[in-house]
Amino acid sequence: MTQINKLARHPRVAPVLKHFYEELESALELTIEIQQIAAPTFAEKVRAEHVMRRFEQMALADVSMDHIGNVYGRLPGSGSDRAPVIVSAHTDTVFPADTDLSIKREGNRIWGPGMADNSAGVAGLIHLIEAMQTHGAIPPRDIWAVANVGEEGLGDLKGMRAVYERFGQKATYIVLEGGSFGHLIHQGIGVHRFKVSVSAAGGHSWADFGQSSAIHTLGSIIHQISQIQVPKSPKTSFNVGVIEGGTSINTIARNASFLLDLRSTEVATLKKLQKKVETIVSRYHDQNQVLVNWEQIGNRPAGTLDQNHPLIQWSVEALRTVGARKIEEGASSTDANIPLAHGAAAVCLGIANSGNVHRTDEYLDYSNFPKGMGQVLLVTLAAADFGQFD
Ligand SMILES: [Zn+2]
Repeated sequence: MTQINKLARHPRVAPVLKHFYEELESALELTIEIQQIAAPTFAEKVRAEHVMRRFEQMALADVSMDHIGNVYGRLPGSGSDRAPVIVSAHTDTVFPADTDLSIKREGNRIWGPGMADNSAGVAGLIHLIEAMQTHGAIPPRDIWAVANVGEEGLGDLKGMRAVYERFGQKATYIVLEGGSFGHLIHQGIGVHRFKVSVSAAGGHSWADFGQSSAIHTLGSIIHQISQIQVPKSPKTSFNVGVIEGGTSINTIARNASFLLDLRSTEVATLKKLQKKVETIVSRYHDQNQVLVNWEQIGNRPAGTLDQNHPLIQWSVEALRTVGARKIEEGASSTDANIPLAHGAAAVCLGIANSGNVHRTDEYLDYSNFPKGMGQVLLVTLAAADFGQFD
């Protein structure tokens, strides 16, 4: 019997696993309650305050909000001076504040913007701590519940950067995502993001024809970038996701810009790709009254947890113990990137499943919700030394 199997049968743990099935409906209500509060990246405050009140009601210790909007609460351990376990979920969503947040429920699915990513994650975090409190499943180490900001869009993981600064390299980080149950993320994809701005002479489309155009130059740069060959392994990608610029159909554009996202699972390959893009961009700079400005707007560092780290083993065993049919391990760009890049132990675990994420028809499929909660519980307890001193 594995350590995790044993843990699942512990008289203080087995009732918590059952609790997740019995209390599924209240966990879903909590998910919807959180989803109903708009929380675009950089404007998470109202949702964060809501979570903070909840942490206070749960009588967590040291409840606080930092200056960027991360909310912290401590579940005191039964006694250990070892580093704490941080269980976190990001509060922000990709949806602007005026998005229609109405929901629809059918079968095992609940539709609504941000329902899975990451209302279910935040609800899962609260549900986890409450269940541990209710059944007295308190491990030796402190558990910090953290609802952090800035995971999506241009947040650049700023919430998790502050969390890491506070707890450091010795802590263990368990990052919760509402979707992707059965996916075990212990590799952080490196992401470099840039805004490329072009300015040109511009003018009237007829009278000034022949003057340099910011949009024509922009198109040409993008075309060059799209021709770059990247390796399949290590997986590497590029994407121009947003373009902006111009004044009117009959004006030669003076200004235009685009946002570029570069990714790789390997630091060196990502740097090489960035170099290629830089070379292309610089070719257009300072020619024919064209100026190209290249500004980095995001840097999510790559990082990998050692394959033999117990956190990976516990996560896999926990999935088997709760009855996951399929286990997928891999890389992604999540809050776990920050601790992983610093060589700290971190995993990202999924609570339930989802579809159409980052679209307004996003849905949460909660069939696996109790299992996902079970996995998170078992991994959290193992990381916090539960049962080690029995
Ligand atoms: Zn997310």
